[in-house]
Amino acid sequence: MALRNILTEEESSLYKKCRTVTDFNPRLHQLLDDMRETLVQADGVGLAAPQVGVLRRAALVLETNVPEGEEPYIIELINPVILEQEGEQHEAEGCLSVPGKYGIVRRPERVRLRAQDRNGESFEVEGTGLTARCFCHELDHLEGIVFTSQAERMLTEEELAEMNGED
Ligand code: ZN
Repeated sequence: MALRNILTEEESSLYKKCRTVTDFNPRLHQLLDDMRETLVQADGVGLAAPQVGVLRRAALVLETNVPEGEEPYIIELINPVILEQEGEQHEAEGCLSVPGKYGIVRRPERVRLRAQDRNGESFEVEGTGLTARCFCHELDHLEGIVFTSQAERMLTEEELAEMNGED
């Protein structure tokens, strides 16, 4: 495994629509393993392939809604599509490609996806709260959309300072 460089918002690759993954081969597995290591290292909750310069429909999301005492785990999403969504949330969102900036983005409260795993097996997965937000955020990346263009507004310096003070 190896760390990959996370592209930042001025890179044009972040604004391109990604292609479907058709080969579930060792190269894809290497990409996913590298993305996993990169996500953990960056202490993020999600990472999409275009953020490491690969224009393919693959993303990782950290499922943090786990029972007490259990560790969050990473869900690998290949060719994900939204099956259902409901509710609404307006929370502050950030992105590893847009360091230091946060914005309020309208997202569904609950999202159900269908995706393939690294071997091409189809599965369904549901997320609520932060996980639902993350699913939508990563799916946006696969369409070449960065959250700053979706935000109702960006947080002010004061709000950022308050948010950091809470950590
Ligand atoms: Zn992002």
